[in-house]
Amino acid sequence: MCVRFLARSGGKSVEVFDCTIVRVDTDVAGVYGVGEVTPLGPFYLPAYGPGARQGIAELAPHLLGQDPTQVAKINHIMDINLLGHPYAKSPLDMACWDILGKVCNQPLCVLLGGRFGAAVDLYRAISQEAPDVMAQKVAGYRAEGYRKFQLKVGQAGAAGITNDIARIKQVRAVLEEGDVLVADANTGWLLHEAMRVVRGVKDVDVYIEQPCPGYEECLSVRRATDHAFILDENIVGLEALLRARKDLACDCINLKISKVGGISKARQIRDLCVSLGIAMTIEDSWGGDVTTAAIAHLAHSTPERYRFTATDFNSYVTVSTASGAPQRNDGKMAASRAPGLGVELRYEVLGEPVAVHAAGMEGV
Ligand code: MG
Repeated sequence: MCVRFLARSGGKSVEVFDCTIVRVDTDVAGVYGVGEVTPLGPFYLPAYGPGARQGIAELAPHLLGQDPTQVAKINHIMDINLLGHPYAKSPLDMACWDILGKVCNQPLCVLLGGRFGAAVDLYRAISQEAPDVMAQKVAGYRAEGYRKFQLKVGQAGAAGITNDIARIKQVRAVLEEGDVLVADANTGWLLHEAMRVVRGVKDVDVYIEQPCPGYEECLSVRRATDHAFILDENIVGLEALLRARKDLACDCINLKISKVGGISKARQIRDLCVSLGIAMTIEDSWGGDVTTAAIAHLAHSTPERYRFTATDFNSYVTVSTASGAPQRNDGKMAASRAPGLGVELRYEVLGEPVAVHAAGMEGV
């Protein structure tokens, strides 16, 4: 199914998202798990909507008959039978965690380490528009309770640099001390453009996120600025994190569940970041209610000091695909106290399954 929202950054925009929601049934009556993957269009990461469904079809014969509560084993089976394609594995891993939570009668955040604090701070992403429009939107979202904002910058070319500097300065001017501002270029700048922007906002209190496509380019910008620095698109797994740590290439990372292959691998990276003192934005590429629930559990089970921000994607989209998902309250959200993810799919919204994989059945 698709959900509508306009996201724009670096000259690229996406209005309709291809979302795959899975339900994994078990041989125990009434026990099943759900998961979701929603790539941010086909050009943000090496992931696209129909690819997720093809990957699931490839994996299904290897997973049918396995015990979904043995989540590490499920991941091992997925990894040896399909190299890469982490986004296709993510909803299956998510559904297995949902099942494990239901079988244990515990909310997922408890299984992932415990519930830290009352609620999780959210950030609001501001799609790329004229500087004054973005400043106006930030002021509006601030009135809704948000205190953390992520501007989509990364406009290419000479005019882009001027606009991006103006975006950062004009938005910072409408914020209060203590509010957090991130300028996320989503890989949109060339090296010389990034260098000019960070110099242009030298005295502004702003984090710089993923200025350029390449790791070495980002490292070069990082070493040229004293702004707090976040890596996102380059942190695709544990090895990338270890390399960034060795080079001190960032102060925070953006941890997206489907980018790294699911909750299991995101938890591994999360735990290592906590041990290393690296704060995280905990989120996904995009998503609706199921993804938002998974983010809430992973974020809520992370010690407060290390969770820089998280995202309530279900407040960005126009379609609700499940009940029980966290709802934003004053710029924060909390993980459900129900077992597992704590969501129930809205079948009247989802319609008939586009594929069913079962023992003795061909995928439809
Ligand atoms: Mg980012």
